[in-house]
Amino acid sequence: MNTAIQIADLSYRYHDGTEALRGLSFNVAQGECVALLGPNGSGKSTLLLHLNGLLPEKLGLNGAVRILGQPITPDNIDTIRRQVGLVFQDPDDQLFCPSVEEDVAFGPQQLGLSDAEVSARVQKALAQAGLAGFGHRATHHLSHGEKRRACLAGVLACEPAVLVLDEPTSDLDPRGRREFKALLRQIPATKVIATHDLELVVELCSRAIVLDRGAVVADGPVAKLLNDEELMLAHGLERPHILRHRHPHVEEGG
Ligand code: ADP
Repeated sequence: MNTAIQIADLSYRYHDGTEALRGLSFNVAQGECVALLGPNGSGKSTLLLHLNGLLPEKLGLNGAVRILGQPITPDNIDTIRRQVGLVFQDPDDQLFCPSVEEDVAFGPQQLGLSDAEVSARVQKALAQAGLAGFGHRATHHLSHGEKRRACLAGVLACEPAVLVLDEPTSDLDPRGRREFKALLRQIPATKVIATHDLELVVELCSRAIVLDRGAVVADGPVAKLLNDEELMLAHGLERPHILRHRHPHVEEGG
């Protein structure tokens, strides 16, 4: 299977000297859905920002990340950002147009598509995000769950090969979480999801990578890792309740 993301010995230090990533290496195959786990401050968000070239600021100095085989360089950064769609943790950081339709159209417009193509992409993405009919709504009047879905629609409208999500279900009520998970399940892109929502991990992801202090401390099948109570507790996580009962999709060691 082809590799969507290759990370080889990736390190990153913020300007104030904080060492956020320390020699990470892993690959993600096309079509995989991978959970990124780890306690707060373990480097998950920093890693996600590297996947579409938002970090490091000096592109080209660090060839440790490759997307669909290509290193991220100043020359191909536009292509990389088309291939990797990043949904931020806080929808208010992502939504900036007055209406949902304008917001979702922004990405496709940057791709230089015709008005008709942009409009078709917007309608399709709104439907994929469960927001059909929401195009004329004001973004700042949406509920939190609707804002999250509007962000997802904006990213999907660019038809990325890789979808990267930072804590997509935090602050959602149970129904919002259920709806968001159902939407994600329908999206065929390669997915990397940083989350503390272990139910989401069990239900959607086949593989989990655990980070702690900027390093990969475990990488393997979700059922194996999440059932490893010692590993989970050692890295500020817990064995999820959902795995304490039999789950139809995830058997022990699977
Ligand atoms: P996580 O997403 O797992 O909570 P982060 O990637 O946000 O982890 O943070 C990793 C480390 O980098 C933490 O020590 C955090 O304090 C630090 N950090 C994050 N953003 C910045 C920043 N803009 N400047 C300095 N340090 C930062």
